[in-house]
Amino acid sequence: MSVHFKTIFILILINKCLASDWDYLEHGPDVWSEHYPTCGGERQSPINIKTACTIYQPLDQFILTPDHVTENNFIAKYNGHTISSETNNKNLALQGGNLTGTFYFDSFHLHWGPNHNVGSEHQMNGLKSAGESHFVYRNALTNERAVLSFLMETRLTKSFRSNNKNDFYDTKSESEWKKFFDVAQKLTHENDSASIDLSLNSLMGNNRNEYWRYAGSLTTPPCTENVIWTIFKEPIVLLDYEFNSFRHELFFESFRGPQPLYYRQVYRTFRDEIQSKIPDENCCISAKSMGKSMIFNNKINSIYFFAAFLILSTIF
Ligand SMILES: [Zn+2]
Repeated sequence: MSVHFKTIFILILINKCLASDWDYLEHGPDVWSEHYPTCGGERQSPINIKTACTIYQPLDQFILTPDHVTENNFIAKYNGHTISSETNNKNLALQGGNLTGTFYFDSFHLHWGPNHNVGSEHQMNGLKSAGESHFVYRNALTNERAVLSFLMETRLTKSFRSNNKNDFYDTKSESEWKKFFDVAQKLTHENDSASIDLSLNSLMGNNRNEYWRYAGSLTTPPCTENVIWTIFKEPIVLLDYEFNSFRHELFFESFRGPQPLYYRQVYRTFRDEIQSKIPDENCCISAKSMGKSMIFNNKINSIYFFAAFLILSTIF
């Protein structure tokens, strides 16, 4: 085989390996840890948030730089897993929210499912939303990521207009997302990309004071455990058919299921939390009590060890 053919053969092999590395189908979340051991770690995301088990903690408000409000030019690209949108603007930064230091905007992307009852990565008391948007920020000094996550709920018909002020309905946010979907739905082949002007502030909606917080990971390989998660209480509401092109042209679904919480605690920034209608979701195993039982077990082990030492020293 000539050097030229060898090179082509190796490139095809590498390309094949990369292309089949992970997905949401045959090489889906259940087997990711075979190639990416961190995906089987104890600080993984997403999680099912049992709201009754969260602890109230008044965390600081987020401070977003003014460029979040103005329109910025984004390049939306289908990267083989999702549509990811990036910008050249280096002035999109995030502080506050009890994060340490300044986090700079990296990209945003979506997760979705086959219908309006499934698609979000995070679950609330075992319930899923139609989708979830992730705005990823990064602190280059600490290599930490901060992800601002918005659950996305969908309306099935256009005609619905609620008179209830408590309904999560934000026309500014919905029309900004429509702009995004109008462009993104045309990106059906890997590496397809398009330019689009968007305001991050409009995409994110209005209420950013009420949220859940926990320490987790990337929800895709390599599942790096360096993410401070913020999941906002108020969802973004869209028309359901916006997701249809993603469902039919890209993937049937693109989300990872909830991972074990282990010893982690989930905090919330709002005082009152209503008990879940699902009884099981109110049963909490707190990190504290887990810690206590570990200490208790250690004490028992120490007593056994001391008793054994006394017996042995009496014999000899
Ligand atoms: Zn994501």
